[in-house]
Amino acid sequence: MNKKTALVTGASRGIGKAIATLFAENGYNVLINYNNSEQEALDLYNELKSRGFSVDTYKADVSKKEEVNLMVNYCIGQFEGIDVLVNNAGISKTNLFTDISYEEWDEVISTNLNSVFYVTKKALQYMIPQMSGKIINISSIWGMVGGSYEVHYSTSKAAIIGMSKALAKELGPSNIQVNCIAPGVIQTDMLDNIEDYALEALRQETPLMRLGTAEDIANCALFLASDKSNFITGQVISPNGGFVIV
Ligand code: NAD
Repeated sequence: MNKKTALVTGASRGIGKAIATLFAENGYNVLINYNNSEQEALDLYNELKSRGFSVDTYKADVSKKEEVNLMVNYCIGQFEGIDVLVNNAGISKTNLFTDISYEEWDEVISTNLNSVFYVTKKALQYMIPQMSGKIINISSIWGMVGGSYEVHYSTSKAAIIGMSKALAKELGPSNIQVNCIAPGVIQTDMLDNIEDYALEALRQETPLMRLGTAEDIANCALFLASDKSNFITGQVISPNGGFVIV
């Protein structure tokens, strides 16, 4: 049985929930981070606990470093370590660049990008001395190719790729792998404000002729967390059905 511990941010729903579930099913201790969606986090906790899995929840706003530091300490206290960190929490806003307010810019950058710095920095206090760890950062295809009407989102997701590549070089000698997953269009609540006709157009532009599921991303994360990916670091894997091929 796998006794490793994974911390998944923003895990109460969507992609994070699928990752937390798949990791629990594969024997990881899982700390489910959530911020506002307490009921969804509790529902997931109860479901996974009832199936006999080793999980816990922790409420923290990942854009606040003090809360992040307490969360990582809690993870160490509960599960005696941290082996895998999945920086998944994120928000998406749609706006013309010239209409993005300073507040909206700060909110997107602090939630999507500063959070990755905070959680990773704290987790490394434990990973570096143990000389092992897997860091999986959830970026986006829009961080690879740019998305109009979401320059702040695209900027945050592109920066995550840059951070991951640079960090992979720095952490290689400590046997810590850092990789990015850059999902394509994935059917989660994040797409709620996109009209059905627009989603259908995206589907038709996708060579595999479907949008992605949260499970498509979770499968990729499980591979990157496992020993089967031990020689992979600093890479961007993009499960996107062929929508973006670079
Ligand atoms: P989602 O909105 O369902 O999930 C996002 C999660 O992050 C939610 O649980 C939310 O509560 C949490 N979160 C937001 N701000 C937080 C904060 N400050 N502290 C803690 N948790 C916070 O969306 P999703 O589609 O599951 O997105 C997950 C990740 O995948 C995001 O980083 C998103 O940018 C990325 N992504 C999604 C898609 C897509 O098409 N759905 C595509 C590419 C990348």
